[in-house]
Amino acid sequence: CLRIIVVFPFMANNKQRNKTAVNIGPEQRVKEFGQDKFYAEGGLLWCKTCNELVDHVRCQTITDHLGTKKHTERANKRQHEATNNPTSNTLVMELVEAFMAANIPLEKVDNPTMRSFMQKNLKGGGGIPQANALGELYVTKI
Ligand SMILES: [Zn+2]
Repeated sequence: CLRIIVVFPFMANNKQRNKTAVNIGPEQRVKEFGQDKFYAEGGLLWCKTCNELVDHVRCQTITDHLGTKKHTERANKRQHEATNNPTSNTLVMELVEAFMAANIPLEKVDNPTMRSFMQKNLKGGGGIPQANALGELYVTKI
């Protein structure tokens, strides 16, 4: 870990010395450990994965946190969820199948109400292609 506490012994001036011994800020920790892991808010350091406050002053606390079972389990789960997103082909296939089975024209996916319904209620629903793209991609397969 990075330590930004630098003391110059040759400096007689106490004021100068205090200035160099700066407490590390949460933003620096974010840079150090990665923006995908932490974020700084309200002068504090938060773990993105756990949504938990982590003491940023001591580097050891942060590394300890990253090593806890609780954190790694959550991190693994997140990774898993991330790979299942965005919109899976299965979702699109099933959607097309459902539309066709119900004799609903595929153009209806472009309907604004339909689209907002899918975005809100389907996992990855925001990534469903427009009707013409759906037709090209999937109708030939069925
Ligand atoms: Zn965590």
